[in-house]
Amino acid sequence: MAPERETQETLSNLLREDRRFEPPADLAAAANVTAEAYEEAARDRLGFWERAAERLTWAQRWDTTLDWQPPFAKWFVNGKLNVAYNCVDRHVEAGNGDKVAYHWEGEPGDSRTITYADLQKEVSKAANALTELGVGKGDRVAIYMPMIPELPVSLLACARIGAIHSVVFGGFSATALRSRIDDADAKLVITADGGYRRGAPSALKPTVDEAVKDCESVEHVLVVRRTGQDVEQNERDVWWHDVVERQSDQHTPEPHDAEDPLYILYTSGTTGKPKGILHTTGGYLTQASWTHHAVFDLKPETDIYWCTADIGWVTGHSYIVYGPLANGATSVIYEGTPDTPHRGRFWEIVQKYKVTILYTAPTAIRTFMKWGDDIPAKFDMSSLRVLGSVGEPINPEAYVWYRQHIGAGRTPVVDTWWQTETGAIMISPLPGITAAKPGAAMQPLPGIVADVIDDQAQSVPNGGGGFLVVREPWPSMLRTIWGDDQRYIDTYWSRFDGFYFPGDGAKKDEDGDLWLLGRVDDVMLVSGHNISTTEVESALVSHPKVAEAAVVGATDPVTTQAIVSFVILRGAADEGADIAKELRDHVAKTLGPIAKPRQILIVPELPKTRSGKIMRRLLRDVAENRSIGDVTTLADSSVMNLIAEKLPSAA
Ligand code: ATP
Ligand code: MG
Repeated sequence: MAPERETQETLSNLLREDRRFEPPADLAAAANVTAEAYEEAARDRLGFWERAAERLTWAQRWDTTLDWQPPFAKWFVNGKLNVAYNCVDRHVEAGNGDKVAYHWEGEPGDSRTITYADLQKEVSKAANALTELGVGKGDRVAIYMPMIPELPVSLLACARIGAIHSVVFGGFSATALRSRIDDADAKLVITADGGYRRGAPSALKPTVDEAVKDCESVEHVLVVRRTGQDVEQNERDVWWHDVVERQSDQHTPEPHDAEDPLYILYTSGTTGKPKGILHTTGGYLTQASWTHHAVFDLKPETDIYWCTADIGWVTGHSYIVYGPLANGATSVIYEGTPDTPHRGRFWEIVQKYKVTILYTAPTAIRTFMKWGDDIPAKFDMSSLRVLGSVGEPINPEAYVWYRQHIGAGRTPVVDTWWQTETGAIMISPLPGITAAKPGAAMQPLPGIVADVIDDQAQSVPNGGGGFLVVREPWPSMLRTIWGDDQRYIDTYWSRFDGFYFPGDGAKKDEDGDLWLLGRVDDVMLVSGHNISTTEVESALVSHPKVAEAAVVGATDPVTTQAIVSFVILRGAADEGADIAKELRDHVAKTLGPIAKPRQILIVPELPKTRSGKIMRRLLRDVAENRSIGDVTTLADSSVMNLIAEKLPSAA
């Protein structure tokens, strides 16, 4: 890396964006959270989180709100509660047993409706089955499943008995699954024969068979029958329909300590070897539940909420399972892909269930843009009232498209910044309060103290850019990296003394609002300027012919690094001979000549993690003519060949 990087001060602040969207008056008038919440939390931060915790049902109240031995936090010390009770039983006891918890939609078109009373029975049976299989409090359970109702049931069953779940996304390989099973020493694996993806049954069980071969920690593999595919029957295997179905549907949840582990979840691996993030019970549920209530303005009586993430990612944990259920919400779960059997499937689901709140990722939004405006236009989506985005910085153009073509130009869009490590949303507009700017995550939520600092750990002034940090512990923060306190300290707490450093760059605009600029590892140094990949990508995406762009800095003898762009064109756009020049000029005009890419490569696909994030480090390998690094977390490794083919013509 260039020595100039050592003296990195601030990120150049290139992008200008003047559009603003005020909250709709009716939403603002009835919003769950008002501007008062910011003042309340500023006056008494711990008191604010205590009141958020009081939204849950505790078997025993805590005696100390926060015990902070940096960088180790304990929240709600000596409090006791059961997460599954909070997510399920208490709603039934309150007379809402008939309320729908999940509208589940299978990819082939089958569906199931699961009420809170149904969920209570299913979770109780599964908890009894886990106990029968010898799983107890503190044991680890690896879960490798498609998006079927048994997946949230499995999470809740673990939570109920105090077993620690470790969900591994169903797209991962046997090696990836095995390394996660070993890292956590899992005693049980829950899986299915397969699930439906892209119109066909896709097998899961063979991957598990391979992963657990000669694995001594695993005592049983519990298998749900979903597709009816033939599966190999091994000695350790037991069927869900044999073991779970015959159990009693009564189970008394015992209270767990607020700091008992709830789950381990491995980060998506965008930057390298995944880390086993450990979350605990009381603080996690408090913040997952409060943020879901506040950021989506959830009205459990009337809203139909749909988060399109996979439960294998933290977004699914916090915003399909724990947050929504703790709040008594009615959610949609969809098993499959957005283009099966047609590219309007998401919008058909919105229309069918009259979805009011939709939470998805920029990668999906850019794909929909690429497919064309006419597809969502065919469906009635007038039920929608709040839209959310998570996973990557959302390009302003994608934001505006989302608001316009999905939200009919009416719905607020909340761009929510957070990570596996934070457990819940940290920085986001609030839909009834914030006049949102497209592409900005805006302000830390009430009770969260975040800032942007320079390399001397000084807060940058408005208009400046630098490193995003969190200055105070928060309830749903990771407690450590599983089995590796030192890596926890080194990764998150060593760069700036006393601050949590998430690894992301950000800027404060003239109003002090926050814009996420991608990972600091991705920041480019061009002729003495630190330029964020996000801003150049957003400039490219603002060109009408561009659907998606990924930008990297490649070593350059003259400018230290030069900007190399990989671009996917929109459906109807024609490559044409001059497209590269047109796009380079467009960036120069939008951001200034300093940001003009040296090279533009038109490519059919971009390398993405299985959670849909662009993996720039692989593109950097391509741009610098190196052999390509670790691709194990890549969703589709053939993409790199498609890109390599494009290279010679572009040089
Ligand atoms: P790894 O840490 O293993 O490299 P990862 O960081 O991709 O993987 P996640 O925890 O799933 O794993 O992703 C969190 C990261 O995603 C954040 O640190 C940030 O870089 C990015 N991100 C998430 N939401 C937003 C958002 N709204 N705006 C900008 N960036 C976001
Ligand atoms: Mg990360």
